[in-house]
Amino acid sequence: MKTEKEINQIFEILAADNPLPKTELEFVNHYTLAVAVILSAQATDIGVNKATKALFQIVKTPGDMLQLGEEKLKGYVKSIGLFNSKAKNIILMSKMLVEKYNSEIPRKFEDLVSLPGIGRKTANVILNCAFGEPTIAVDTHVFRTANRIGLSGGKTPDKVEKDLLKKIPDKWKEHAHHWLILLGRYICKARKPECNKCPISGFCNYYKKSNS
Ligand code: SF4
Repeated sequence: MKTEKEINQIFEILAADNPLPKTELEFVNHYTLAVAVILSAQATDIGVNKATKALFQIVKTPGDMLQLGEEKLKGYVKSIGLFNSKAKNIILMSKMLVEKYNSEIPRKFEDLVSLPGIGRKTANVILNCAFGEPTIAVDTHVFRTANRIGLSGGKTPDKVEKDLLKKIPDKWKEHAHHWLILLGRYICKARKPECNKCPISGFCNYYKKSNS
């Protein structure tokens, strides 16, 4: 496991490369961020952006979405995996937002996870990207990189989230999940990590093991 000094050094390096990392999903407000995050489950951000480009020109609020309706929504997002169930959840979420939350995305974790289509990971992404909360959403990239580097030995996303929240110093928390996502997406790839390009290889357990 990493010492606090090592963790600080890892994030100093990642921050120097990209001081203010952002989600690669495109959105125009909190509501469209939530829609994009729901659509992004098991799909690429590029694929979601392609589909939402036209959608978000006409839909910006839960009311707009309800007016569009489920069938037409499916027409916009049919290139995205699991689009049928995602469209259904987006409509149900929009209904609940109108009825219970005055058409606003709530800022409380418990309220977010009560919305259809929003689980722990999605709620953490929304809290972080919309409200700047220091949450850490553990997706496949964060899970893999955290384990390889040795920031967590967790076997489930929930355990990795707990470890990261406990170990990462507060000053890095707001951006930690984006730094790890970008590292995993572009360098620490699932099948073949490109360790020769990795700025933090000197701190990585997987790298040390493969080169010992
Ligand atoms: S050194 Fe290799 S395994 Fe370790 S984080 Fe970098 S790319 Fe991933």
